[in-house]
Amino acid sequence: MRGAVTPRLRTGLAALGGYHSPQVDVRVRLNNNESPYPPPATFVDELAAAVRKIPLNRYPERTNRSLRRAVAEVAGVGEGQVFAANGSNEVLQTLLLAYGGGERRALAFSPTYTLHAQISRVTGTPLTAFPRTPDLCAGPEVVESALAQVDPDIVFFCHPNNPTGIAEDPAAVRIAATGGTRLVVVDEAYVEFASTSMLGLVDDHPNVVVVRTLSKAWAVPSCRIGYLIGAEELVRSLEAAELPYHLGALSQEAGRLALMYEADMRRRVEEVVGERDRIVTTVAEMDGVDVWPSEANFVLIRPQVEPGAVWRGLLDRGVLVRDFSSREDLPGCLRVTVGTRDENDVFLAALGPVLDEIRDDPPVGER
Ligand SMILES: *Cc1c(COP(=O)(O)O)cnc(C)c1O
Repeated sequence: MRGAVTPRLRTGLAALGGYHSPQVDVRVRLNNNESPYPPPATFVDELAAAVRKIPLNRYPERTNRSLRRAVAEVAGVGEGQVFAANGSNEVLQTLLLAYGGGERRALAFSPTYTLHAQISRVTGTPLTAFPRTPDLCAGPEVVESALAQVDPDIVFFCHPNNPTGIAEDPAAVRIAATGGTRLVVVDEAYVEFASTSMLGLVDDHPNVVVVRTLSKAWAVPSCRIGYLIGAEELVRSLEAAELPYHLGALSQEAGRLALMYEADMRRRVEEVVGERDRIVTTVAEMDGVDVWPSEANFVLIRPQVEPGAVWRGLLDRGVLVRDFSSREDLPGCLRVTVGTRDENDVFLAALGPVLDEIRDDPPVGER
C-alpha cells in the first residue's frame, strides 16, 4: 500500500523482543514448570456445568468476589486482602501500573524471574538488577547495599526463586520492608512446593504483597488466574490501575472451582517434591554436572561441558529442558522441570550418556 508506514514502538520497547521461551514439539516436555498432571476430571465437569449457568450477555461480577473469597479461605486471610487477575503476571503488571512509572525505581536481585524486569520495562519503570552472591542468594548484606545504592520504590523477591529453586532469606526481605514506604513484592509462584512462605510478613508490613498463581501447583495455567495478598488499603488502591471487568466470568468460575481441589493439589505437590528430590540426588551422583537443591518444581543444573550441546543432546533423545546458559547471570545453566516419574526417568537416563558423549567428542570449536 502506498504511503503505509509501520508505527514506531514506544521508546524503550523497540529494541526488545517479548518474553517467549522456545517451544519445540517433543515427547518429554520439561521446560515450562507446568504440572505434569492435569486437574481432576470432576473439576472439568463442574466447570462445564458452571459455564452453562453464566449469563453471557452480562458483564461479569466486577469485584470477582466469589473468587476472592475462595482465595481468602485457602490462604487463611481476609477477603479484602485479595486482588485477583488474569495470571500473576497481570497482577504484577497492575502493581507496576499503580506504583511504578518513570519517576519510580525498581530493584530485583539477579538471577531471578525475567518477567519482573520485562513488566517494569513495559510500564516504563527503571529497574536495577542487583547481583546475588555466587551462591545465588540475596542475604541481608546484599539487600542492604542494594537499598543504599538504588533507593528503590519497589523491590522484587521471588520465593522460592525461579530459575534457581532457592528460597529467599526472610531476614533480607524484612530489611527491604522496613524503614520506608517502598512496595515489596514477594513472588510466590512456587510456594506450594516450598517448606516456607513469606505470607506472615504481610501482617506486620502493609507495604508487602505476596503474589501467587494457579498456573503451577494448581495445574490450571490455561485458565490464567493469579492473585496477591496484601493490606486491605493497598488492595483497594489497585482499583486505580485495573481495567473494568478485567477478570471474565469464565475465569472467575474456573479459579473458584479449581481452589476447591486443595487436597488433590497437595497430593500432586507431594508426588512432584518426591520426584524433585530424586532428580537432585541422582544428578548429584553423576560426573561432569553440578546441581542445586530446589524448593520448587524444577531443578537447576550446570554441566561442566558445553551446555548448548547438552541441551541439544537431550532434545535428540526426546527431552526438552530450558537453556539459560547464554544468560550472563546464569552462565552454563539448564533448568529441568519435574515431570511424571516416567518422564524424569527418560531425562535421567538420557543425561549421563549425553554428558559422556560430549566429553569424549566435544563439539566443534571446543576441541
Ligand atoms: C510461572 C511464574 C509465574 C506465573 O505466571 P502466571 O501469569 O500466573 O501464569 C509468576 N512468577 C513466576 C516467578 C513464575 O515462574
